[in-house]
Amino acid sequence: MKRSPPKKMRIEELIRRNVWEVDKERHIEILDEKGLPRKQLLLLCPMRCYVEEEGRLVMHYEECVECGLCRILSNPKSLRWDLPRGGMGIRYRYG
Ligand code: SF4
Repeated sequence: MKRSPPKKMRIEELIRRNVWEVDKERHIEILDEKGLPRKQLLLLCPMRCYVEEEGRLVMHYEECVECGLCRILSNPKSLRWDLPRGGMGIRYRYG
């Protein structure tokens, strides 16, 4: 039996198929905005968790996919990065 090719999806569509258990406690926190690579965080976070609000760098953790990129780009004195507490955060759905 011939299988039909998989339906093409945009990456945003694929990401939105996952589910999030949003914790009340944030797992990522800006400690020192000046010590962070602002441009890279704004440009490279795949979920656009970093935004500028009234000239300040603000981090919205709710839709974080826990890729760890911001952790690699930043130093621990400027950014606290943890995984969400057990059972919280993103639950990936494959297929
Ligand atoms: S871990 Fe990834 S998705 Fe989450 S805030 Fe950092 S860069 Fe964005």
